[in-house]
Amino acid sequence: MGDIAADPSHPRYASLLMRHRLEEAAKRGMLAGSAMIAHGRGEAFDYLLGERTTDSARTAAAQALACLVEATHPVLSVNGNVAALAGDEILRLASALGCPVEINIFYRTPERMEALLGFMNERKAALGLDVVVLGDAPNATIPGLKGPRAACHQEGILDSDVILVPLEDGDRCQALVAMGKTVIVIDLNPLSRSAQGATITIVDELSRALNTMLEMVEGGANASDPAYNNNAVLEAGLQAMLQGLNQSA
Ligand code: ATP
Repeated sequence: MGDIAADPSHPRYASLLMRHRLEEAAKRGMLAGSAMIAHGRGEAFDYLLGERTTDSARTAAAQALACLVEATHPVLSVNGNVAALAGDEILRLASALGCPVEINIFYRTPERMEALLGFMNERKAALGLDVVVLGDAPNATIPGLKGPRAACHQEGILDSDVILVPLEDGDRCQALVAMGKTVIVIDLNPLSRSAQGATITIVDELSRALNTMLEMVEGGANASDPAYNNNAVLEAGLQAMLQGLNQSA
């Protein structure tokens, strides 16, 4: 994707870069019509969080990584915003874990799927990574969901025991949890249905959270913590935002 005009020293550089990536992805037909709105909701929460990775987000990221490393069939699910904002990080994480990536979108059309598969395979070749990218031939359905949004690969999402679904919608998150999977979401909104329903919620901006996990995987992941408490992580995320508000009042 092309570079942005903004100077990296600009205080909102990271935010401008992400917006630019979405603009470029929209031109390639990778995004749903509501993609920018979903991103804007995330940006608002990140502003409150101080655009930083909190200690509780780091705890959740460490637990997420540990569960992915310990899984029998881990899989990383990718939608349009995830591919646009952090496609490279997802591919690097999948490569480190030796697991597949599955493109799985809520508003599925053949054109969008083709655009996303083309983009992810392009990035995979550019990075020189040997990662299986699924999504082209779904042969299974997620129980409890209706229509094209239920479609998935048996050898990917259906058979997975631990699944990373960043920026997931609440219905699909609930359906995956109901299948007995360990569901990891990355969501800046600790109050969303996905954040509340997931097994592990990383309340952080997508690319920051993935880079945290990549740094951790390089250093060697710790074992999962049986006492991990996702409600405490959600509460800490919310408190971090409220404290930021109090400080600026
Ligand atoms: P739910 O269906 O789970 O209640 P929602 O309807 O609010 O959630 P969507 O609009 O489907 O959610 O998805 C957007 C979600 O992703 C929001 O919760 C938003 O905070 C979050 N989000 C958007 N961009 C990012 C990002 N870059 N990093 C992390 N989270 C993000």
